[in-house]
Amino acid sequence: MKTLIHDATVVQDFEQNEINKNFSILINEEGVIEELGKASEFESRKQEFNIFPMNEKIVMPGFINCHTHLTATLGRGVLEDLAFPPILPYPRSANSYLSDEETQIMATLGVLEGIRSGTTTFVELGRDVEKYASAISETGARFFLGEMMTDLTYNVIKAGSPLKSKNDFSEDLADQAYTRAINLFESWNNKERDRIKVVFSPATADSCSPSMLQKSRELAEEKQTVYTIHLSQSHQEVDGIKNAWNLKPTEYLNAYDFLGPDLIAAHCRYVDESEIALLGKFSVGISNNPAIAARRGAAAPVTELIQSGCSIGIGTDNMAEDMLEAARTGYFAERVRRNNETTPTANNVLGWATTGGAEITNSTHNLGSLHVGKQADLIAVNFNKAHLAPNLRVVSNFINNGISSDIESVMVQGKFIMHDKKILNVDEEKIISEAQIIAQKSWTKLRESYPNLNMLVELDNI
Ligand SMILES: [Zn+2]
Repeated sequence: MKTLIHDATVVQDFEQNEINKNFSILINEEGVIEELGKASEFESRKQEFNIFPMNEKIVMPGFINCHTHLTATLGRGVLEDLAFPPILPYPRSANSYLSDEETQIMATLGVLEGIRSGTTTFVELGRDVEKYASAISETGARFFLGEMMTDLTYNVIKAGSPLKSKNDFSEDLADQAYTRAINLFESWNNKERDRIKVVFSPATADSCSPSMLQKSRELAEEKQTVYTIHLSQSHQEVDGIKNAWNLKPTEYLNAYDFLGPDLIAAHCRYVDESEIALLGKFSVGISNNPAIAARRGAAAPVTELIQSGCSIGIGTDNMAEDMLEAARTGYFAERVRRNNETTPTANNVLGWATTGGAEITNSTHNLGSLHVGKQADLIAVNFNKAHLAPNLRVVSNFINNGISSDIESVMVQGKFIMHDKKILNVDEEKIISEAQIIAQKSWTKLRESYPNLNMLVELDNI
């Protein structure tokens, strides 16, 4: 049976401020929007559909989170206060103590926060993603999954010092990484009625050799998918690429033919004018991750990147999954960075979080806005709240005053995954309580394993 989202105020496209009152959305059995129009036009056919009356709710496109690492939820409240690299002085991480099942729970926890804050699509990048792909898929959310690849002989982030030499790469490590990435692609691409896609993800500009950059792009082209990398994420990365290659990070990627319109470059915090021009020349998609950048005292030059020809999406990156907060931080940060009191606008920023995300994941044909022929990935928001009244300009009101708990229902591919504030496909309470136990256990193990090391930030005795 077809589904009718009935009598809502529908924000069809944030960027265009395309808003229609008393509208209904008819969704077919495939989860595709079949008709959109005045609610009154559907009255005589109502009995043919599974109807969800929206009353005074506002229905909007769901957010596309262009860059995240879901298992980083284990570091919540602990790692945010550290400078880059956000690591403690231990030989191993708290995550390394997790069993596969515990990793699945921490990743699912991240998805739950994302759903509750209006995210319908996650670009999830991780190590051994196959371990938890099935668990997160069960939530019903949409994913682009990427297995992070590196062929550097040490972990440049854990080492806490910049890349030293261009001879520090290993062909064996590269081959292992390609195998993991291709296996993920074979297992998951286009699965769950195309709800899951797989991308290629060489990890960072300073942890990949030229041959890994070239091979990653080739793989993405061969498999007709996008590829992504962390670019200009830290001063450490900029220094390391200068040491090893005598180039700026974007120049390094360009030197090995890595830049292109199917690339999502995440962060781009410290790119200079010539790098911005290069990124624009190749129409690179940028995942701006403004909340984590602000925590590191940084902000990407978003306006300049757009002016040069780049498309912008928004990501959350580590620990947090709240795209509304990330979008709002992006809105504030860009105004502060440019000392500009009026731009970007609310429409610009929520556009980045939806249509922008669709653009950089090559998904404008089916994601990012609510139009006939696109996927029914949407959220229903209750504006009947003290902090949202009066509601005179929906988009501006939402970015300036909205909070994630205003979002009451989330639909992906025509199916509710949260309805009237209830998460439908996984046991949310169980995940939350287990996550607390897992975190206490793994952090305690880490501290007990290395009693003489200074934690840098103390955990509360709870
Ligand atoms: Zn990241």
